[in-house]
Amino acid sequence: MRHIVHLDLDSFFVSVERLQNSSLIGKPILIGGNSDRAVVSSCSYEARKYGVSSAMPMRMAKMLCPDAIIVRGDMEVYSKYSNMVTDIIDEDAPLYEKASIDEHYIDITGMDRFHGSLKWTSELRQRIIRETGLPISFGMSPNKTVSKIATNEAKPSGQLEVEQERVKPFLNPLSISKIPMLGQKSYHLLRNMGVAIIETLGAMPVEMMIRVLGENGRSIWEKANGIDNAPVVPYTERKSISTERTFEKIQWVL
Ligand SMILES: [Mg+2]
Repeated sequence: MRHIVHLDLDSFFVSVERLQNSSLIGKPILIGGNSDRAVVSSCSYEARKYGVSSAMPMRMAKMLCPDAIIVRGDMEVYSKYSNMVTDIIDEDAPLYEKASIDEHYIDITGMDRFHGSLKWTSELRQRIIRETGLPISFGMSPNKTVSKIATNEAKPSGQLEVEQERVKPFLNPLSISKIPMLGQKSYHLLRNMGVAIIETLGAMPVEMMIRVLGENGRSIWEKANGIDNAPVVPYTERKSISTERTFEKIQWVL
């Protein structure tokens, strides 16, 4: 049985902006450009209440939330804070993967023989909050997919452990939109078939999923059933550089 942790900074870009300018605390914030083609890279929870979300056109976001403060964003500063978080994890964690600028996976399998794994992870989270000033949440479970979903359920500023026997009861009532990597197109296809929650998806014959969604069908079906054998791939510096280049090239979105 593996123990996989997913750590994700809460509305990361917004949190960094608030560390630099405390007058932004408690207000609806949109991070992104102001041109006609700009999209929202990140937004505060106060803005989300108006229906704003990441990747939405900035013009639409401004219509939904006219009082929002728009901040251009500074990738260099975000990278600096991201690396601070990675450095703390690097000091404490046996095996970790930097999955994106604000997300890490840690494999702590076997550690519970020495420390409680939940206690260890809670302490790591508290250390990150204390030393960087950034809010962060985590999920912990036997695999990456369930841990990522658990993090999203725990947010903001939360933590959630899902043990093996709780995986199915945890996933079953959730919307299929909570499955990481389920694209918009697949989501609408499934919704049109009447599939709304993960329990329904997981109970479909896998062959049917493959017929409907193609190659991706099997992996989505496995995720709906709490199955994910993907390993935590150790972080390397080279990979981080190419990740950051990608962020500059494409419109970065959190
Ligand atoms: Mg995040």
